[in-house]
Amino acid sequence: MNSYICLMEEILKNLPKQAKDKHNESKKFFAKLKKKQPKNLDRIMQDLHEEEFERTDCLTCANCCKTTGPLFTNKDIERISKFFKQKPQQFIDTYLRIDEDNDYVLQQVPCTFLDEDNKCFIYDVRPKACAEFPHTDRKKFQQISNLTLKNVAICPAAFNIVEEMKKRVK
Ligand code: SF4
Ligand code: SF4
Repeated sequence: MNSYICLMEEILKNLPKQAKDKHNESKKFFAKLKKKQPKNLDRIMQDLHEEEFERTDCLTCANCCKTTGPLFTNKDIERISKFFKQKPQQFIDTYLRIDEDNDYVLQQVPCTFLDEDNKCFIYDVRPKACAEFPHTDRKKFQQISNLTLKNVAICPAAFNIVEEMKKRVK
């Protein structure tokens, strides 16, 4: 096993505890940020996101695909079922269930569409939620702080971005 994979395994093993240790600090930071944001917050987030994903290789990680699943919108279902040459209902019956919020989610994790080498075999038609995860380059990032506080325990890139953000946004 190469050293980058070993390192990522170690990072993922420690991540839940690290996120827990930082939770209160991050919560306070976001509460403050919601009251007053720097004018260039969208730009800052774009830079932090790009810098982090130059360092972090999702193909070595895939923790989001292994531990949580995306929501599937009707558009996602239409697009993906077409890819499989199935009727939307057939796709739903085979892969999805309805969760407690009435959303379509995967019947199981790790995601059925994840290959052994951590590649998504429906990558070109994957759900919008997958394409946008961990949402660290979205505009008005402060509006999804509750979701981000959960994502930092799953995604090492999101964790690093939030920690760097705390240093840059005073
Ligand atoms: S988005 Fe985050 S959790 Fe998902 S594969 Fe990339 S680094 Fe890992
Ligand atoms: S659809 Fe693809 S990107 Fe989304 S969770 Fe499954 S394997 Fe990961």
